[in-house]
Amino acid sequence: MKITDHITNANGKTLFSFELLPPVKGRSIQEIYDAIDPLMEFNPPFIDVTYHREDYIYKKHESGLLEKVSYRKRPGTVAICAAIINRYKVDAVPHLICGGFTKEETENALIDLQFLGIDNVLVLRGDARHADPSFVPTPGGHAYACELLEQVTNMNKGKYLYEDHDVVNADFCIGVAGYPEKHFESPNLKTDFRYLKQKVDNGANFIVTQMFYDNNKYKEFVKLCRENGINVPIIPGLKPITSSKQLINLPKIFHIDIPEDLADAVQACKSEKDVKDVGIEWMINQCKELIEFGAPVLHFYTMSNPGPTKRIAEAIF
Ligand code: FAD
Repeated sequence: MKITDHITNANGKTLFSFELLPPVKGRSIQEIYDAIDPLMEFNPPFIDVTYHREDYIYKKHESGLLEKVSYRKRPGTVAICAAIINRYKVDAVPHLICGGFTKEETENALIDLQFLGIDNVLVLRGDARHADPSFVPTPGGHAYACELLEQVTNMNKGKYLYEDHDVVNADFCIGVAGYPEKHFESPNLKTDFRYLKQKVDNGANFIVTQMFYDNNKYKEFVKLCRENGINVPIIPGLKPITSSKQLINLPKIFHIDIPEDLADAVQACKSEKDVKDVGIEWMINQCKELIEFGAPVLHFYTMSNPGPTKRIAEAIF
């Protein structure tokens, strides 16, 4: 079922969902089940699975020459989505990224998703390769999420890349990313917002936000969206702080602010266990307020570690 239909059918009740990472290459699907099983009692209508671009390593030959080798650390998004829908009978939402895919490869992936009966996709540009200083589009691929979105909406209209005969329309419900504290490459929030609006005007059906720790950032973002005619559901993305090093890593990696009160509370902790308790307590309070505000879904970035999310869900659902 489409995420927008899940939200409509919930009649204003806030839903619970979460995101998983594919395990690193060579691991078993059991790792995915172990990450999902503890959270199923909270009835997630959908589960997201991230996609990860290829990266480079430099392989040293005996001659001393270095060879640039491309590899994928976490493949398997489409297969994991298939396993999730079969085992749990819930919707799986694959993330689709521009990086690492030509348009033809994207079309083939979308056809696989259609075969599998997957109704939703989250369309993203994707992160830069670790070896690159910034995002480099794949030759023959897309440079921005809005271009990938256009490919998916074209398929929804029955417009494939090359076919000029009758083809079946796809019917994907399409999500895109939104950044309440702006995307790090954008010169300002308004410019970033303009591109978000373009994605929605061009067919995105829902938005999932980057994580945030101050609900006012989400509320202001929703207000800005509504004032500018963006009326699709805006799903808050949430990630509890569970270790003291995240005070540095989260702002560094995700370009978000950690409120002073939360940072002070973490810094005052005597142990990592205390940090986890503080982070979970903060997130429980955030969630209660977001439910009151009318957030359609609380979507957790679990990083395939269900423990902290389970504690939060137990307190609020
Ligand atoms: P875009 O919408 O393309 O925007 C990227 C930047 O370009 C922004 O600064 C924007 O303002 C600007 N921009 C947009 N359109 C244009 C245009 N037409 N012309 C000029 N500038 C433009 N990464 C992964 O690799 N895998 C994942 O599975 C994944 N899942 C994610 C899930 C969520 C909910 C979120 C919030 C992020 C996720 N990411 C993932 C990270 C994401 O790919 C990065 O944040 C990436 O840098 C931007 O992706 P985007 O889709 O927002 O890009």
